[in-house]
Amino acid sequence: MKPAPFIHHAPRTVDEAVALLSEVAAEDGRILAGGQSLVPTMAFRLARPGHLVDINGVAGLDRLAVEGGWLSIAACVRHARFHRPVEDGPLGRLLTAVVHHIAHYPIRTRGTFCGSLAHADPASEWCLVSATLDAEVIARSRRGTRTIAAADYFQGIMTTALAEDELLAEVRLPRLAADTRFGFEEFSRRAGDYAVAMALVAFRVADGVVVEPRVGVGGAEVFPRRIAEAEAVLVGQPMAPAVFRAAAEAAAAAVEPLEDLQADAEYRRELVAVMTRRALERAAA
Ligand SMILES: Cc1cc2nc3c(=O)[nH]c(=O)nc-3n(C[C@H](O)[C@H](O)[C@H](O)COP(=O)(O)OP(=O)(O)OC[C@H]3O[C@@H](n4cnc5c(N)ncnc54)[C@H](O)[C@@H]3O)c2cc1C
Repeated sequence: MKPAPFIHHAPRTVDEAVALLSEVAAEDGRILAGGQSLVPTMAFRLARPGHLVDINGVAGLDRLAVEGGWLSIAACVRHARFHRPVEDGPLGRLLTAVVHHIAHYPIRTRGTFCGSLAHADPASEWCLVSATLDAEVIARSRRGTRTIAAADYFQGIMTTALAEDELLAEVRLPRLAADTRFGFEEFSRRAGDYAVAMALVAFRVADGVVVEPRVGVGGAEVFPRRIAEAEAVLVGQPMAPAVFRAAAEAAAAAVEPLEDLQADAEYRRELVAVMTRRALERAAA
């Protein structure tokens, strides 16, 4: 099938883009970034936006920069930019470890980090990274600029705190201390498919025990999130198999798993335990 008719807008600046978006938002006007989620849904006529505000020609939106303690990722930074570490520390290596699980190479050359957050699929790897690391989302509209904490940003399946007239201009990820250990594990039915369940963990070790643990789970619930119950099990404990098993079980007990054709709730809960334990073991290795 072909998409329903729409009007294509090609702004050159962020101000032009947000002005256009505010004019067309009421007619289901949408931002077009990489098009890797939006265009297929338009082709199937599951989405029929009357207007597309194409941000691919907007100056400065391909910006990827380290600024103080943050990695700043602007709206048109493609997944493929992370095929190699974009900064020297553990954050750069973490993003590179994760990106290869996102779709396939051609999709990664077009799809964007910020587009993934705007789309907010429960199984989006970048959404999991953003939730686990407490990212900041910078939203721009005619009304001004606001910063949304990741913990407030995700609200449901493909539902976020972003208003219809807001451009997700940038995501900021906190840089990780040089001695941060991390592990990422994903289960999907085929390479490149969306995750059925996945876990991202990060922590430091001081005086032989785990400090500042982060345990994030994605694909299993309506949106990815940190699991405080699992983090509480880890803090102050040695990197030991029994501790990792207990944290993984705590994560599995805490989630309210989705059910779909790929997995029922019981199977997803089991996957959360296995992915979390393996991610912790990978971080410890
Ligand atoms: C076969 C296939 C497999 C895939 N597998 C995975 C996978 O394993 N993991 C994964 O995470 N993704 C996967 N994807 C999706 C892919 O990563 C997309 O690139 C991503 O979800 C959306 O990014 P985009 O830039 O393409 O956004 P678009 O498709 O351009 O837009 C998606 C939605 O977000 C909105 N939007 C986009 N950017 C902005 C912005 N800056 N501000 C406000 N709204 C915005 C659009 O209006 C639209 O509603 C897959 C896609 C395909 C086709």
